[in-house]
Amino acid sequence: MLLTPGPTAVPEFIRKSMANETIHHRTKEFENLFKNTRELLKKLLNMQEVVVFATTGTGAMEAAVLNFCKKKAVVINSGKFGERFSKICQAHNKPFVELKQQWHTPVCLEDIKDSLNQHKDIDTIFLQICESSGGLRHPVESITKLVKSINKDIIIVADGITAVGVEHINTTNIDVLIAGSQKALMLPPGLSIVGLSSQAINSLQSFSAGYYLNLKVELDKQKQNTTAYTAPTTLIIGLQKVLQTMDDIGFDKIYKDTKKRAAATRKSLEALGMKIYPKAPSDAMTTIYHEQSTLIRDMLKNSFDINIAGGQDHLKGKIFRINHMGFVKNYEAFWVVNAIELCLDKLGLRQFDSTANQIMAKEML
Ligand SMILES: *Cc1c(COP(=O)(O)O)cnc(C)c1O
Repeated sequence: MLLTPGPTAVPEFIRKSMANETIHHRTKEFENLFKNTRELLKKLLNMQEVVVFATTGTGAMEAAVLNFCKKKAVVINSGKFGERFSKICQAHNKPFVELKQQWHTPVCLEDIKDSLNQHKDIDTIFLQICESSGGLRHPVESITKLVKSINKDIIIVADGITAVGVEHINTTNIDVLIAGSQKALMLPPGLSIVGLSSQAINSLQSFSAGYYLNLKVELDKQKQNTTAYTAPTTLIIGLQKVLQTMDDIGFDKIYKDTKKRAAATRKSLEALGMKIYPKAPSDAMTTIYHEQSTLIRDMLKNSFDINIAGGQDHLKGKIFRINHMGFVKNYEAFWVVNAIELCLDKLGLRQFDSTANQIMAKEML
């Protein structure tokens, strides 16, 4: 049972949709497929335009830095993915101000205000909606409102790789919204998606950069339902299938189910005496702080067939993360908390009394 917050499990109906002979990308057949996929993507992202790249999520992050930061950026860093924006800025010699916090702590609005007032040449701000390294949800709505109230010309880039498909995102003040294939979209890794606001599209008319990652070149092509270079046809066939299925179910229904599953999981593990790591948890995953995380993960894998994620860097062995993204079945959500309760019993930390599953049942059924 794959319950890591990315890559997530790829359901059988998606795998099957990608099992057929692929198609050539310079054909009417592909254009029709891509046209439909683009329409569904715009609906999902709630953005004016969209560009798809054959890269993992980091490719879209790099494209955003390259094409939108002209003078100086603010980078919000509450974990590995925030830090990645800083590293990309460094790689391209873009000056930036980094607002760093511990991995369980959201950015402080006052710090954003101060840096924007101090550095008048800031033209871009980069942040995660959900910072996956600690499962943290930044207060994106307040942040973006604040930034636009100080300077409406600043381009706001939101990495929504573990937020798109998880929750309804208010895109009123977001200019660039990034998504990736292997999280809530339940596809194999290999696609990144960049949603663009009309302000971002305007900005690209006067400035764009990069070769493969040039957003202006790619946008002009994709508006015609084709791609500048060879399209990742098989993944796009899968993307169309998953988006169509999600749309048929209803995006709001998926968000509601994910939220319910996340809340039930948190409640159930808290009832076992476990500690939720982030101060503001995202619904994409549940992150637990536990000194015996490595042992718990090993037991889950070896005795219960469950694969969950651990922590990185200083949180290695200190946290574990359970995925809620995608079409997680009820029995899977129940199985993981029940198995954790059994692990605690095996470790002699707490006697098993089925508390975890009872709470899941109360919250979910
Ligand atoms: C997974 C993820 C990424 C993308 O990483 P890749 O390995 O390049 O796909 C970026 N940001 C966040 C928040 C993520 O969770």
